[in-house]
Amino acid sequence: MLEKNSPGQNIDSYCGKCKLNLDHTIMTMEGETVAKVRCKTCGSSHKFKSPLDAQKIRKPRAKKGAGEAATAEIIWAAGLAEAKGKERDYSMASRYRVGDIVNHQTFGKGVVVKLYANKCDMLFKDRERLMASTNG
Ligand SMILES: [Zn+2]
Repeated sequence: MLEKNSPGQNIDSYCGKCKLNLDHTIMTMEGETVAKVRCKTCGSSHKFKSPLDAQKIRKPRAKKGAGEAATAEIIWAAGLAEAKGKERDYSMASRYRVGDIVNHQTFGKGVVVKLYANKCDMLFKDRERLMASTNG
């Protein structure tokens, strides 16, 4: 016998709020298709999203701007590979040159990419950061 979905029944759906595939209750149907569901976990009602679709949704949601981060990481890795400067711990009292490799306590390894008066842009794994230094 073919199981038919109908309002009030349980269904696995992707919850945009919980960011997970969870148990939902069918609220409304559009013909044979589930239209609206309610998340049993957070109680929010939303359009039905099959768990399969969630696989596509999941990737970008891993981190907002994950695409950007990935790009930054590639640039960062390339920058590190090309950097010929000496590697040392970051200190705002240091003088840097473009290409210097910096070890930062919080941000990890970075490459100096641009110099300003008493500041410089350092490229870290996740993004570029303006850091204090004694250039200038
Ligand atoms: Zn939910």
